[in-house]
Formats: sequence, C-alpha cells, structure tokens
Amino acid sequence: MKKRILIVTLAVTIIGLLLFSFAAVQISYDDSIENAKNYLEVYASQFDASYTADNDGAAAFSLSLGGARVTIMDENGSVLGESEQVEIETDHSSRPEVASAISTGSGVAVRNSDTLGKKMVYYCKSVSINGTTYLVRVAVATSSEWAMFVDVLPTIAVFVAIDIIACLIAAYVGTFLILRPVEKMAKEATLGKEVTTNYREIQSLAALLNERNRSLAFQMDELKNEKELVIKTKKSKDELISNITHEMNTPLTSIKGYAELLESGSLTPEQTALAYKTIYAQSERLTNLIASIINYNEIDSDDLPPYDVDFSSIVKETIAVVLPEAEKAEVTIIDNAQSGITVSGRHERLSELAGNLIRNAVRYNKRGGTVTVNLTEDYFSVEDTGIGIAEENMDKIFSRFFTVDKSHSGKNGGFGLGLAVCKRICTKAGWNISVQSKLGEGSIFIVNFNRKHGD
Ligand code: ADP
Repeated sequence: MKKRILIVTLAVTIIGLLLFSFAAVQISYDDSIENAKNYLEVYASQFDASYTADNDGAAAFSLSLGGARVTIMDENGSVLGESEQVEIETDHSSRPEVASAISTGSGVAVRNSDTLGKKMVYYCKSVSINGTTYLVRVAVATSSEWAMFVDVLPTIAVFVAIDIIACLIAAYVGTFLILRPVEKMAKEATLGKEVTTNYREIQSLAALLNERNRSLAFQMDELKNEKELVIKTKKSKDELISNITHEMNTPLTSIKGYAELLESGSLTPEQTALAYKTIYAQSERLTNLIASIINYNEIDSDDLPPYDVDFSSIVKETIAVVLPEAEKAEVTIIDNAQSGITVSGRHERLSELAGNLIRNAVRYNKRGGTVTVNLTEDYFSVEDTGIGIAEENMDKIFSRFFTVDKSHSGKNGGFGLGLAVCKRICTKAGWNISVQSKLGEGSIFIVNFNRKHGD
C-alpha cells in the first residue's frame, strides 16, 4: 500500500511539476519576446542623421545600441548597410517585418535567421532623414522555448529530488493515517467488540464487520447449543440404556434361576408350581417393560393430529376401571369432575394421563384414604391422602425410571415410567403438569391446560 501511494503521489507530482515548468517557460518566453520588441522599438527610434546609410553607419549604430544587429534599407527594402559581417541578400522587402514597415511604418517578426542561424526578434521602422526615407531594422538574438526549458532543467531536477523526499514522507504518513482507523476497527472486530469509527468513508466497513461479528456470534451460539444438545441426548440415551438394562436384569435373573432349578429336577411339586408361576410372572413383567418403553417412545414420534376429546368421559371411565383396585386397597375415590369438558388431544393419550395419575393416587395411598378427582375448563387434578413425596424427590418423579422405593416398584409392577409419560403427553399438548406434596400427608398432581410447561 505504501509503495502504491508513493508511486501515485510521485507520478502526480512529477507530471504536475513538468506541466508547471512548461507553462512557466512558455510564459517567460512570451514575456521575453514582448520585452525585446519594446526595447527594439526604442532602439530603432534612436537612428538619426549622424549615422551613414551604409555598412559603417550600421556598425556604428549597432555599437551605440550595445551590439544589436542593425540593417539599413532604402524605402523599398533594398539593403544599404548591415552591421554583421555576413553575406546577405540585397532585397529584404519580402521579410515580414520589412514588408509591414513598408506598408504601415513599422513591423515586428520572430523567426530563425537564415543568415545567422539563430532565433531572432526583428523590429523594422521607417525613418525619414533629410527628406529621404530609410527602413531601419534592429534585431537581437533570443533563446528558443526549448533552450529556455533546458536552462531550467537543473532547477527542475532539484525540485524533483525534493518532491521524491516529500512523497516518501507523504506515503509513510498517509499510509499510517489511513491504516490507523482500519487497524483500530480490525482490533475491535477481533476482540468481538462493537466496531466504531468517526470516518464516514469507512463506516460501511464498520457496519459490515459488526454484521459479520453478530452472525458469527450467533453461529457460535447455535453450535454451542447444538453441541450441548448432542451431549445431553447422548447422556440421556446412555442413562436410558443403563435403566432398561437394570430393569431387565431382575426378571431375567429370576427366570434363569428358576429355569435352572427346574432343569435340575430337584424341586418338590409345590416348588415346581411356584417356579412356573414366577417364570410366567417375570416374563409378563419383561413384556410390560418393553411395551412401556415402546409406548413412551411413541409419544414423541407420534405425529397423529389432536382432536376435541370429551375428557370428562375419559376421567369417569378411568375411575370406573380403577375402582376395584381402590376398593381392594380400601381407598375412596371422590369424583368431582365436571361433565362435558372437552380438550384438544388424543383419546388414548388422555386415557393414559388420567389412568397413571388416578392409579398412582390409589397405589401410593393409605388404607381408608381418599382420592379426589377434579376437572374444569382450566385444569385436571388428582389429590390423595397417601404417603406423599419427599421434598428432594419432587423434581425427580417425572424422570424416566425413577421410583422412590425400588422394592415398592417391584411390588406394584411400576417401572417409573408412568409420570414420565404424563409429562411427555402434557409437554406435547402445551400444558403444565406440577405436583404439591407433603411426606406422610398426601399429594396433588395438577395439569393446567392454560399454562405452558415451565411457566
Ligand atoms: P411407577 O408408579 O410406575 O413407579 P411413576 O412414574 O408413575 O412410576 O411414579 C414415579 C414415582 O413417583 C413412584 O415410584 C412413586 O414413588 C412416586 N409417586 C407417584 N405418584 C405418587 C403419589 N400419588 N403419591 C406418592 N408418590 C407418588
């Protein structure tokens, strides 16, 4: 950049310098010619009767004028006397200055003298002495424009040298001054700061850098989020596999153990019957586990459209289904659900939601306890007077495979997927599910239809 600025400034200034020199030489040349004409006119006027109209007279007059060339002619332009010792044509009437003097009394011309081989300024005047008319021509040599230019060349060379030094300094300072704001912007951009500048010419560059920085930051954020999501998904997948393996391990160990005992043939008929019963029950548990996992996964991948569902009817049907279990556990179900409440969803999912919450309220209840079911336009709630949930478990109960008491889960056949399913159904529908509970006193699960999850 410095080099380019140097070349451009040098080229511009040197061309400028030369043009200026040409113009100055031309002006001074014109000026010198004009000057010569003026003083030649004065010279010519000094010719008088004291000079003879021959070579000697011309030489004497030339001497008195300090050496200017003098030609004396008669009124027709025929040469009578000439100060220079050269051969000249006798008839000068065709010379422009002489022709002009014959017709108008005076004439001026600038040209190369054929006689002397120099550029000359001629002035010719008609003078009358003692009744005779003479033409007196006075001439001085003058420099040509080119010669004048050659004369000023050394001066121009000095200026060119000064110009080169000035241009070097200008290129250095110019580059520094131009680059300083750009470098400042580049520094700000690299540090991710807002790029600013007072220079209007590079404000669009600042805007561009800011735009680039913003989109870069946005992309970085997106990448970071994506990376976090990938890590989270992987962690969640690993957890899921570990949970499934864990849940499968118990029934499989049990099946394998009883199968070995049966194979050994050492069991009594009662023990054999127990072995078959256990193998059957544990196989059933495995089947249920797999079905529950498939069902859980289907909720997310399920793209089936929702429709208006009569949730009141579903709640009442669910209560009817759970009732025998409740009676067995000596738990009373109080149905406070309003009729005709319609929500947007799918029958099978809503049935699962109500089923999981009401069944849990019965299962985790106490003898003689109650379950109160409420359904309005705004919410669906299931309240129980059961064992309650400890504060530290309140967040975890909606996670997959979480059960407060592992032996309890075994007893009830739960895998800790019921509330995770409820949460997924609600999240997908845009509802909020929450729990309030006091250990030993009971819990209430509330599904709010108007509040999104996490509000
Ligand atoms: P599961 O009931 O199959 O174990 P859930 O996901 O339905 O799985 O429930 C997870 C855990 O939350 C249960 O193991 C239980 O400890 C606790 N829980 C759920 N509902 C209630 C309730 N109404 N009262 C007390 N504890 C509950």
